[in-house]
Amino acid sequence: MNLNNQKQNLLKMLPGVDHLLELSKTNPVLKETPRSLLLQSIRHVIDSLRKAVMDNTQDIKDEDFEDSIVLEKVKKHVDLASAPKLKRTINATGVVIHTNLGRSLLPEEAIENISLIGSRYSNLEFDLSKGKRGSRYSAVKDILCEITGADAAMVVNNNAGAVLLCLESIARGKKVIVSRGELVEIGGSFRIPDVMAKSGGIMREVGTTNRTHLRDYEDAIENDTGLLLKVHKSNYSVVGFTSEVSLKELTDLGKKYHIPVMEDLGSGTFIDFSKYGLVKEPRVQDSVASGADLITFSGDKLLGGPQAGIIVGKKEAITKIKQNPITRALRIDKLTLAALESTLNLYRDEEKAVKQIPTLRMLTLSVEQIKKTSSQLKKKLIQIKDTRLSIEMINHTSRAGGGALPLLDLPTVCIGIKIDGISVNTIESGMRSNSPPIIGRIEDDQYVMDMRTIQEEELTIIKDALMIMLKKV
Ligand SMILES: *Cc1c(COP(=O)(O)O)cnc(C)c1O
Repeated sequence: MNLNNQKQNLLKMLPGVDHLLELSKTNPVLKETPRSLLLQSIRHVIDSLRKAVMDNTQDIKDEDFEDSIVLEKVKKHVDLASAPKLKRTINATGVVIHTNLGRSLLPEEAIENISLIGSRYSNLEFDLSKGKRGSRYSAVKDILCEITGADAAMVVNNNAGAVLLCLESIARGKKVIVSRGELVEIGGSFRIPDVMAKSGGIMREVGTTNRTHLRDYEDAIENDTGLLLKVHKSNYSVVGFTSEVSLKELTDLGKKYHIPVMEDLGSGTFIDFSKYGLVKEPRVQDSVASGADLITFSGDKLLGGPQAGIIVGKKEAITKIKQNPITRALRIDKLTLAALESTLNLYRDEEKAVKQIPTLRMLTLSVEQIKKTSSQLKKKLIQIKDTRLSIEMINHTSRAGGGALPLLDLPTVCIGIKIDGISVNTIESGMRSNSPPIIGRIEDDQYVMDMRTIQEEELTIIKDALMIMLKKV
């Protein structure tokens, strides 16, 4: 029989959709499956069988067309398709503010408030004292002003949105002076020159990559200059022969020429990290004290709250922004607002903030504390009692992530794993496909988990994942 005939015969054996639907009625799982999901799964299985026939007839066996086998495949696809796509994941990378893994873990208080505000009516835009329509921002405006010392504040969906909105509101059609050393790309295609173009602001670059002086800004000022912009370099650093203009110098210049000054702080923090043995990051309070008209920063980077773009500054500038119709398009939602208010509230007591905001807690963990969790994990893994498994505790360094503190090496402890007879790539992908997935890395032919970002209650999950893997081989 030639290949084409063989294919034709196999294709004739493909089950029909109606036949499988009928069969599903007698299957205890599939008869309860929502029809749209069932149909989608049946079509998927038939399509992949057809594709297998067309692509590699050799590997197809008659059994593959049997009702029970096909139905089993449908069931598998139903399970796969109905499992959540957004999964809780274990971060074994040591990168605390890991954008791909969801950035900041919310403090308990924030979670409780999300649940309350999300499940009940609230005064989201209702002024309880006047009994009239109120402002969405009032939940966080006062506390933001209290913590940062600013006159006014508002919040939007994220910091990228905050920057776009500020530029559009203040500098549309006008020149914006910015240092060449600060034209950063943050990742996820957020680039200062591109955002500037979208906002309608006209970028006027000054200085050089490594050095920009106050006179560079001053010389560039023209009648149509609408804004002086300073951008936090976030994820990179210029070292060596460098010079940059401080925000204070820039705001003094702005005052002299009556031009507003804005700073995109990127991460933004309310606490002085040098107190905890980390490098000093400029605090939002310092930027406010410098007299900038607008300061923008993220809610979910160093602040450790929900994704949000926070704007603080002078009343006049913030009022202008609130009147911009784009504000509505970047509106913060009530769940975020609930989480943000609770997170901000913790900052009233710094000691409490550092303990209860997971991002701050993980960033300020001492090596001794991390060593303790590492020893606990090592002990658990030894209990597996499999001679193929070798476990090593390694001194290492972790990163803050999220474009914050890029040069900071945080001393940490990692657990390195090797398994005799299983390649390190197989370990990595096995951990990644675990439920819940565990995200570590490969280094020096070892599977490495940085213990800084692993919570105590996750140790057993890691042990179980390795046990499953060892059983398979
Ligand atoms: C991270 C960052 C942004 C974008 O903030 P998101 O909250 O992620 O939108 C903008 N500017 C700078 C300097 C940043 O570091």
